[in-house]
Amino acid sequence: MVTAVTGANWGDEGKGKITDMLADQADIVIRFQGGANAGHTIKNHYGKFALHTLPSGVFHPDVINVIGNGVALSPHKIKAELDEIMGRGVPAPKLMISDRAQIVMSYHVLFDTLEEARLAGKSFGSTKSGIAPFYSDKFAKIGIQVSELQDMDALREKVDGILVKKNILLKHLYHAEELRTEDIMEELEEYRQILAPYAADTAAFLDKAVKEGKRILLEGQLGTMKDPDHGIYPMVTSSSTLAAYGAIGAGIPPYEIKKIVTVTKAYSSAVGAGEFVSEIFGDEAEELRRRGGDGGEYGATTGRPRRVGWYDTVASSYGCRLQGATDVALTVIDVLGYLDEIPVCTAYEIDGKQVTDFPTTVQLKKAKPVWTYLPGWKCDITGIRNYEDLPENCRKYVEFIEEKIGYPITMVSNGPGREDIIYR
Ligand code: GDP
Repeated sequence: MVTAVTGANWGDEGKGKITDMLADQADIVIRFQGGANAGHTIKNHYGKFALHTLPSGVFHPDVINVIGNGVALSPHKIKAELDEIMGRGVPAPKLMISDRAQIVMSYHVLFDTLEEARLAGKSFGSTKSGIAPFYSDKFAKIGIQVSELQDMDALREKVDGILVKKNILLKHLYHAEELRTEDIMEELEEYRQILAPYAADTAAFLDKAVKEGKRILLEGQLGTMKDPDHGIYPMVTSSSTLAAYGAIGAGIPPYEIKKIVTVTKAYSSAVGAGEFVSEIFGDEAEELRRRGGDGGEYGATTGRPRRVGWYDTVASSYGCRLQGATDVALTVIDVLGYLDEIPVCTAYEIDGKQVTDFPTTVQLKKAKPVWTYLPGWKCDITGIRNYEDLPENCRKYVEFIEEKIGYPITMVSNGPGREDIIYR
């Protein structure tokens, strides 16, 4: 049985924690899209970890972790993360990397950096991990698959061809130093050595696992708002963040994904530029940012202060719909205990009309939030394990959101730890 864990919003919804929790009952955990540009924060008995490339199952000794073909693979980062977790006492995880995954090259990072600098004030707020240039090359059919490392001679010829294009851009668009085949081949040789122990036909492995009824978890990155098709284009990421893509990015049949746990945070946050209707500013924002998440709303990858806002039922309802949510996990609700009343964005006003269907970016730019105010519960709810034990106003908040988004909230997370969860 395959379960996907994905985000309904802009990312940072707390997917890492939910995945880590569900990984307890999983045999296999798979990353199926994205790269080292986003991160999960996981807190468990080994400590607090920021994972960017490794699947969240790495803390569970019996779990097989798979990096699927849909991922943007950064070999150095994988190695650094493996070294880091093992250095902190986590047993060597079982890891498989798809031989059809493609590699993020140093020149992808270089082009990402040069392009952000060229765009200056109009940049996308990229984390400069090379993700957009990587996926551009993948779909322009000049990417490098892990399997190609088996034939370094053929690869050298391919690299010669790639560099013709890259060097024209470097010289004439960016006025930067040109690349040499030798250096790129040296880089690829390093990758060959790092990846050799892990590279495998993961889709064949998963086919067998699915047929044997293994419990499989697909771990999404970012959220619906960052999906290149259904999100706030162009301020999106470069690979699909939807559960449906799990089938493609892992190489399994779409109808095997039976459960889609969509994670949504009890308030909103976003990293980088892009439309965010329920965003708040000033002291109100500063207080939420400081109290938010676990130690404040600052990016797991970049350390950048996250933009924050109140819960947005328009965006979240859409976010859950596009994910195909069968279950919603509402997270970080414990943070809201300080508020007398809690604003929730329940509609957008566009050109004087109220809408509740999430619109396209052109319309979003004109949207103003319409607030509904709910009474706060004014107490600390961490440690509570039964839904009935939550303060009445807290339950009303959960039920209000559930009704507005139209998908069942089956889990409420009231703390960063694995055990801080209330099932409904
Ligand atoms: P992800 O990318 O969706 O996994 O989200 P992040 O890891 O970037 O952000 C979630 C942050 O909130 C992390 O610091 C988690 O440890 C923390 N967190 C997750 N769930 C809860 C919760 O229910 N309460 C609190 N206070 N923190 C949480």
